[in-house]
Amino acid sequence: MTSNCIGSVDLSCLEVCPVDCIYAIGESEGEPLMVVIDPTECISCSKCVPECPVEAIMMDSVVPEELKPWIEINAMHSERGDLDGPAEDRAHEHQDIADAAQAVLDREKAA
Ligand code: SF4
Ligand code: SF4
Repeated sequence: MTSNCIGSVDLSCLEVCPVDCIYAIGESEGEPLMVVIDPTECISCSKCVPECPVEAIMMDSVVPEELKPWIEINAMHSERGDLDGPAEDRAHEHQDIADAAQAVLDREKAA
């Protein structure tokens, strides 16, 4: 997932993932800040890609240079291990990863 997801979280990608490896993180005005993919669980089926209305999802192999920091942010999630419960309940967890996502977004804006 890349920066376009921030603020556009409709969770439609999450609903189609066959292995439930997409997680909502952070919180902004009562909604998840964004979603991330756990690369250790993802089977690269691409089902989530066409679901995204803002083209926030792309396979690692086609991520442009300026968006490559997002690969690391998605991977940071997996280092924490699995979280149980529905995505909405997880939105308040992993706030520090969400903060990292926000920092990347701020850097992109400033560039
Ligand atoms: S590409 Fe990965 S994240 Fe997307 S639907 Fe398939 S398994 Fe889930
Ligand atoms: S479909 Fe796109 S904008 Fe919506 S939650 Fe998934 S990645 Fe984010």
